[in-house]
Amino acid sequence: MLGQMMNQPLLISSILVHAERHHGSREIVSRRTEGDIHRYTYRDLARRARQMANALTGLGVETGQRVGTLGWNGYRHLELYYGSSGSGVVLNTLNPRLHPDQLVWIADDAEDQVIFFDLTFLPLVEATAARFRTVRQFVLMADKSAMPQDSKIPGLICYEDLIESAPDQYDWPLFDENTASSLCYTSGTTGNPKGVLYSHRSTVLHAYGSALPDSCGLSARDVVLPVVPMFHVNAWGTPFSAPLVGAKLVFPGPALDGKSLYELFEAEGVTFSAGVPTVWQGLLAHVEDNDLQFSTMNRTVIGGSACPPAMIEAFESKFSVQVLHGWGMTEMSPLGTVCALKPGQEKLPHSEQMAVKSKQGRAIFGVDMKIVDTDGNELPWDGKTTGELMVRGPWIMQQYFNRDDDALVHDAAGLGWFPTGDVAAIDEDGFMQITDRTKDVIKSGGEWISSIDLENIAMGHPAVAMAACIAAHHPKWDERPLLLVMLKPGKAVTRDEVLACFEGRVARWWVPDDVVFVDAIPLGATGKMQKNKLREMFRDHRLPTA
Ligand code: ADP
Repeated sequence: MLGQMMNQPLLISSILVHAERHHGSREIVSRRTEGDIHRYTYRDLARRARQMANALTGLGVETGQRVGTLGWNGYRHLELYYGSSGSGVVLNTLNPRLHPDQLVWIADDAEDQVIFFDLTFLPLVEATAARFRTVRQFVLMADKSAMPQDSKIPGLICYEDLIESAPDQYDWPLFDENTASSLCYTSGTTGNPKGVLYSHRSTVLHAYGSALPDSCGLSARDVVLPVVPMFHVNAWGTPFSAPLVGAKLVFPGPALDGKSLYELFEAEGVTFSAGVPTVWQGLLAHVEDNDLQFSTMNRTVIGGSACPPAMIEAFESKFSVQVLHGWGMTEMSPLGTVCALKPGQEKLPHSEQMAVKSKQGRAIFGVDMKIVDTDGNELPWDGKTTGELMVRGPWIMQQYFNRDDDALVHDAAGLGWFPTGDVAAIDEDGFMQITDRTKDVIKSGGEWISSIDLENIAMGHPAVAMAACIAAHHPKWDERPLLLVMLKPGKAVTRDEVLACFEGRVARWWVPDDVVFVDAIPLGATGKMQKNKLREMFRDHRLPTA
């Protein structure tokens, strides 16, 4: 017997319609590439998104076709999120930090018809325009006054002209909620990037899940500033979850340095933010160096790579900003777990509480997870046993775009699980802790050493800005940990002082065999340490123990 409830499809356009009707005067504030601050409301966003939907039709973009963006976090980018997906077009957010060859490869793979780009990327688009195989039109997301006089891009259109010429009446179409909505690519640390094609249903459910109290805990009273870019897994869903609850949105545009972010936090009364640890390092340095405090910000999600406990400690103890350590991946829309305490844990002694908070957290409803051994057998949740983390759920991918092979591993009951490539332990309370990526784990004499644990300890040293731990070749043990350390400006510390941090904190055989001080640690297009590059750089490093 079927239930007798309305069969209303979960569509992205419905979030915008809701925000306009119930939170129409709530503000969206953007720092623009033009340099100034722009403000308007959800009502204005809805109007211009309808104009964008009409404009896309005018450009000949058909349902299901892809349009690409090269854009910072800003209101025009948001208009494209809704104007394209809402009308049945698929939005392909391109990461401008990728190598141009990779960008062209992605836009070709996605078969993008139009590319919308911010002023910052004019030189990039001018240099690559002729190489895109399927792109018919380029649109510069800028005011008319900012349009270049003699651009090398044939037929370049001004975004504002496009909007102005399009009617603002548009009925968002109703279609199957499983229809594709947007396409994001993984950063492709090995081989070509892989496309993950989200649906309306997966996006709306993810927005619900991520707004829950023990995930991001969003409400109409919040002021949300996503530092995580809209080209990195849809800014972790904030462009959907904020309007869903009616929160004010603040976009930082291209200014992601500590000072600019801090000023925007304070000027706009930001209460909630989200970003990767490397970005927060700049912000923390700015507030610490200038003796500042956050007057409104009360919590932030930090994820994308492991958040060092020293960073959680600094935010919480010095600035009263609650850190929600989160974990996820492009293939998961991205949110999988958030570390919110369970009852009783707030009363734990500080060090025990910190031990919980540095874990990646508990699964949000909608994400099922398990850890398995190399034969696929499920492992116990004892907080110690580690295995590969597998996930399933309605906002988790089952197949990569343009690939025929099944991305899932099927269990005895026939259920498909997505293998995350992460190694993790899960404790009795369901708190998951990532110890490594399978490709980063250090295998010493057949036993695994967690590179993340060692990095977290090194980053607790006050002189250390960033630390990466990689496997170096060892004639006896096969691999041993090599610690690469980047110091904070003006700080000095010896190799032995760094190694002293590990005493009593890890088993003796986990202590790195060597420490090398480096000027910089290479970061990828989403701000994560590129350990594959480091392994390449230190391939011939001879350990003193070898
Ligand atoms: P990629 O870098 O592969 O494009 P994602 O941005 O999707 O992709 O990154 C997903 C990966 O990032 C996860 O599989 C995990 O290895 C890592 N990651 C994300 N959040 C965390 C976290 N809080 N702690 C440790 N690792 C994390």
